Amino acid sequence: MRPFSYRAPATLAEAVAALADGGPGARPLAGGTSLYDLMKLGVEAPSAVVDIGRLPELAGFDTAGPEELVFGAGASMADVAEDAVLRADYPALAESLAKAASPQVRNMATVGGNLLQRTRCGYFRGGPAFDCAKRRPGSGCAARGGLDRGHAVLGTSDACTAAYPGDWAVALLAFDARLDLYGPRGARTIALADLHRGPADAPHEEHTLGAGELVVRIRVPTAPAGRGSVYHKVRDRESFAFALASAAVALTLDERGRVAHCRVALGGVATRPWRAEAAERAVVGGPLTEEAAVRAGEAAFADARPGAHNAFKVRLGARVVARALRTAAERAAGRAVA
Ligand SMILES: Cc1cc2nc3c(=O)[nH]c(=O)nc-3n(C[C@H](O)[C@H](O)[C@H](O)COP(=O)(O)OP(=O)(O)OC[C@H]3O[C@@H](n4cnc5c(N)ncnc54)[C@H](O)[C@@H]3O)c2cc1C
Repeated sequence: MRPFSYRAPATLAEAVAALADGGPGARPLAGGTSLYDLMKLGVEAPSAVVDIGRLPELAGFDTAGPEELVFGAGASMADVAEDAVLRADYPALAESLAKAASPQVRNMATVGGNLLQRTRCGYFRGGPAFDCAKRRPGSGCAARGGLDRGHAVLGTSDACTAAYPGDWAVALLAFDARLDLYGPRGARTIALADLHRGPADAPHEEHTLGAGELVVRIRVPTAPAGRGSVYHKVRDRESFAFALASAAVALTLDERGRVAHCRVALGGVATRPWRAEAAERAVVGGPLTEEAAVRAGEAAFADARPGAHNAFKVRLGARVVARALRTAAERAAGRAVA
C-alpha cells in the first residue's frame, strides 16, 4: 500500500481545509468500510486521508421534524436503520439500510459514505490486469465480452457497464431527497438525483461533488407516501449481498383506491440510482391491479441493454418492480403485508 498522511480534524471547516491541503490525492474517510477496502486492493491510493468520522457537524439524525427528516452524513447505517419513526412511517428508507451489508459493516459505515461507495465490478476491483475506464480513463471495459452477470442493463455506455451498488441512494431517490454540501467554496444544496453521474465516455467521473467538497447532511421532505413505501431487494444470498435487482416505491392512493402519486427507483440494474418514470406513469391514475403492476415493471425495463450474462436482470427487475408496487399499495391502503 502506498504511504499516506492521516489527519483527524475537529471541525468541518478544518476538514475542508485539510482536504484542500492534501490536493487532488486527498480522500475523506468516514467509516472506512469501502475506502480502506479499495486501498488494500490498490484501486485507491490516496496521498492524504482526512478522517471525518468524528465531526460534530456530520453527527446524528432527526426524524421527528414536521417538514423534513434530517440525517447527518456521519450517522451510522445501523442507527438509522433501527429508528422507530423511520421503520413505521418511511419503511423503504429503513429497509434499504437494514438490507444493506452485514450488521458489523452497518455499525461502522455511515449514511454519507454509503452514497459515495464505488462499484463492485470485479474488473474495477481486480487491478491493472484488466481494462477499466473507471480506473484508467480511456482504457476500455473488460466487462464487455467478459463476466457481466452483476452488471447494469440501464444507463450503460460503451465505456462502462458497472452497476451502482448502493441501496440507500435508491430509496432516497423515491423521496426527492436533497444533500447539504460544504467545500472550499462554501455551502450549497443539491438534489440527490443530481449527485451520481452516468458513465457516458468518462466513467471515472462518478459524482458531481467538487474537489474537497463533503456531504454534510441528507434531507428528506416529510411525505404521506412514506407509509406506502417499500424497498424490495433480490440478491444471491439473503444474509448479506449487493442487489441483483431492487426497487424502492413510494406511493399514495386516493379515496377510491387509485394511485395518486408514485415514485419508483431501481438499484442493482443501472449505472447510477435510477428513477423509473415510465413505471410511475404506467400506474398513476388507476387501481394498482396485478396487471398494472406487471405492465409498469415491463415499462421500467423497456430501454434495457443487457450484456452477455445479465439478460436475466430484465425479467427479474420487472418482477421486482411489480412486487414492490403491489406491496407499497397494500401498505398505503393500511393492509398487512406478508
Ligand atoms: C461485506 C460488505 C457488504 C456490503 N453490502 C452492501 C449492500 O448490500 N448494500 C450497500 O448499499 N452497501 C453495501 N456495502 C457497502 C457499505 O455499505 C459501504 O462500504 C459503506 O456504506 C460506506 O460507508 P463508510 O462510512 O464506511 O464510507 P468510507 O469507506 O469511509 O467512504 C466511502 C467513500 O465515500 C467518501 N465519503 C465518505 N463520507 C463522505 C462524505 N460525508 N462526503 C463526501 N465523501 C464521503 C470516501 O472518501 C470514500 O470515497 C457492503 C460492504 C461490505 C464490506
